[in-house]
Amino acid sequence: MFDKSSDKVKNGELVIDDLFFFPEVGMLDCNQFIIRDQDTKELSLFDAGNGLTLNGLIEGMKRLGLLFKDITRVYITHEHVDHVLGLYHILKKMEDNKTQVFAYGETADILRNGIEEKIFPGSIQSFGINTKYFGVKIIPINITELTLHESIHIGSEFTFKIMHTPGHSPSSICYYEEQQKILIPGDLVFTGGSFGRYDFPGGSLQKLKESIKRVNELDVTNLLPGHMGITSQGNKAISSSFRMVQSIGSYF
Ligand SMILES: [Zn+2]
Repeated sequence: MFDKSSDKVKNGELVIDDLFFFPEVGMLDCNQFIIRDQDTKELSLFDAGNGLTLNGLIEGMKRLGLLFKDITRVYITHEHVDHVLGLYHILKKMEDNKTQVFAYGETADILRNGIEEKIFPGSIQSFGINTKYFGVKIIPINITELTLHESIHIGSEFTFKIMHTPGHSPSSICYYEEQQKILIPGDLVFTGGSFGRYDFPGGSLQKLKESIKRVNELDVTNLLPGHMGITSQGNKAISSSFRMVQSIGSYF
């Protein structure tokens, strides 16, 4: 039913200095972003993809002169299958185990305790989408918990704030870089006026609306969502999603 896409290269591109975009490949994968620390050359990866596309990512990175072994940090936006399954493959491949995984709130708990039914929410399981399909075993992972008051520094160029933006899932977060006006919103908002699903267990239309309202107040140039395209017209894209989501009734 689904194309497993394991052989396809995730061809990336440079978005701005030291920030790279690797678009999703096939079904149930996600966009991934890599930021390079200008001083140490270490790499931070945003979201882990579904794991089936990890070899494609590694090849895509190589083509841009980036080495997989230089990934020392992985930042997760939320716990869903398409964003986290790659973690299990990445950690296995990193023999020295120095890669740190960062997550917030319930997302951190789910990954730390390996709670499979939260990683594969609701209806996804009934389509035969399970760990066997992806060739992974959900095991407890060592997680470094993010807090809302600490910023993330990647070299001297990037400082991200964490925003708790529930609605798509209870502990979904956005990573916001104020100086360079970059927003990594996970599955909160997408380009083209769309926004994340709110019908999974733990999802909430009301909370999604409130979260989108908050990011609509930010100044965003580069909007780097978890699916579909990215845009350098972030403010315009977010306000369009904001208008669209406001027009939905709250009967869910
Ligand atoms: Zn999701």
